[in-house]
Amino acid sequence: MTNAQNPTIDRDVVVIGAGPAGLMAAYTLKKAGKSVAVLEARERVGGRTWNGKVAGTDGKEHFIEIGGQWISPDQTRLTELVEELGLNTFPRYREGTSIYVDPEGNRHEYTGDRLPVKESTNKEMDKLIDLMNSVAEEVGATEPWAAERAAELDSISFKDFLAQHTDDQEAIDNVSIYVASGMLTKPAHTFSALQAALMAASAGSFSNLVDEDFILDKRVEGGMQSVSLTLAEHLGEDVFLGSPVRELEWATPDPSTADELNKIAADVRNGVENGVLGPVTAVSDKVTVNAKAAVLAVPPNLYNRIQFVPPLPREQQVAHQHISMGLVIKVHAVYETPFWREEGLSGTGFGGGRLVQEVYDNTNYGKNFAGGTSGEEDTNGTLVGFVSDVYAEEMWALPAEERKQRILSAMADYLGPKTMEPIAFYLSDMAAEEWTRGAYATSYDLGGLSRWGHLQNQPTGPIFYACSDIAAEGYQHVDGAVRMGEAAARAILEAR
Ligand SMILES: Cc1cc2nc3c(=O)[nH]c(=O)nc-3n(C[C@H](O)[C@H](O)[C@H](O)COP(=O)(O)OP(=O)(O)OC[C@H]3O[C@@H](n4cnc5c(N)ncnc54)[C@H](O)[C@@H]3O)c2cc1C
Repeated sequence: MTNAQNPTIDRDVVVIGAGPAGLMAAYTLKKAGKSVAVLEARERVGGRTWNGKVAGTDGKEHFIEIGGQWISPDQTRLTELVEELGLNTFPRYREGTSIYVDPEGNRHEYTGDRLPVKESTNKEMDKLIDLMNSVAEEVGATEPWAAERAAELDSISFKDFLAQHTDDQEAIDNVSIYVASGMLTKPAHTFSALQAALMAASAGSFSNLVDEDFILDKRVEGGMQSVSLTLAEHLGEDVFLGSPVRELEWATPDPSTADELNKIAADVRNGVENGVLGPVTAVSDKVTVNAKAAVLAVPPNLYNRIQFVPPLPREQQVAHQHISMGLVIKVHAVYETPFWREEGLSGTGFGGGRLVQEVYDNTNYGKNFAGGTSGEEDTNGTLVGFVSDVYAEEMWALPAEERKQRILSAMADYLGPKTMEPIAFYLSDMAAEEWTRGAYATSYDLGGLSRWGHLQNQPTGPIFYACSDIAAEGYQHVDGAVRMGEAAARAILEAR
């Protein structure tokens, strides 16, 4: 079918989703001489990476990164790509004293990577961190579902697993934050110890997750979305914005499966050959693409937004129902100056179990689309904070002004009363975005990873999966998205 409103085009590969994973897949395929079309639901590329602005009371617009921004040293594929694309990075400001707020609400200053907790709590935290380091090493990031103790570790919640090894609640709260509210953005009783071990293994170790100087090391000048914007420039007119894919025709139904007695039409319930090229047709709002393979580069919680024709095999249909997004609000507060630095503070604050459990100096550097000067830091100071899982729900239920005051006051617990007076304030609301529906990323419910993980990046017929949420190294991060995009492209190049 061809019509002027929705033309049909032919390409070697159709890529669904123009986040870093989809764009990297298309970029790799195009460099290898394949023709591609990238269909993106939104009117922009970048997915969960997003350069934004917020208007200040000073009459200026201030640059913010609404989505993903930091790169850590283990994220080597992203680091190489950033260089390849001619982009620059800058380090996070981290000089001075950090703040810890204990469960009683008392504020403590500290330096180094050890929280100023009681010696006994410190010992318990070390014990839990060592334990998680060894579990992460045991299961690895590549196939955690195949580990000998996979089913056992997947049957206990992260919270209960930690509680099996200590009864020090402060130690449990402080250690669980590194995976629960800090990464998967789900309460620690809702996901398994295996899922937590995958998170740690994907970052190199649990100790790396604990070390904020490691995990939140660098940012891209001009914002992380620049990676996607630059990849999209290379792809030019092969990227179609405002084109949500509604339907994917991907296989020929097997006539032997039809059941006239029960009025069941033919489908693929007896299985398909996976990872082989074959005709696919992706129907989007603006264009229809005929291709030989599809890269499905959307987060797994959105697979069900597409009508697969015929329906996907039963194990995929079941597995996808056990993968869900976390929920976190990224808080941006811009100030006349980075006032905390004048007080010798780094801007870093921690408090396991608190409304805002992490705060960092997020002052911009260099040129960005809201302004800035190359080679110079912004004179305005920016703080970033995070409100996770059940706290995020509680905050969204409040009227806007009350929400703002509650969040700022929780940040002021770390950095003092001046925190209450930002010149600009913005909350990233990825859960309200139709084409994301949560933040930061997806994970399995209890028991899901050991049961269905093996399916997540195995192709289904000519459909190849690519997303940070199914990555090994760089799991849930832009690095993982880039790796998965490249891996899907390579698999297609090698496929029959
Ligand atoms: C608030 C926040 C903070 C984060 N912080 C960090 C960080 O500091 N460092 C880091 O490395 N990572 C961070 N992340 C995670 C990081 O942004 C993601 O891991 C990364 O963007 C995933 O890339 P992706 O291409 O796999 O998926 P996405 O970025 O989600 O891209 C998927 C794309 O598919 C599109 N799409 C969906 N459905 C359809 C459809 N039916 N048809 C067509 N298009 C469709 C979407 O619009 C989207 O553009 C953060 C994420 C959030 C939300």
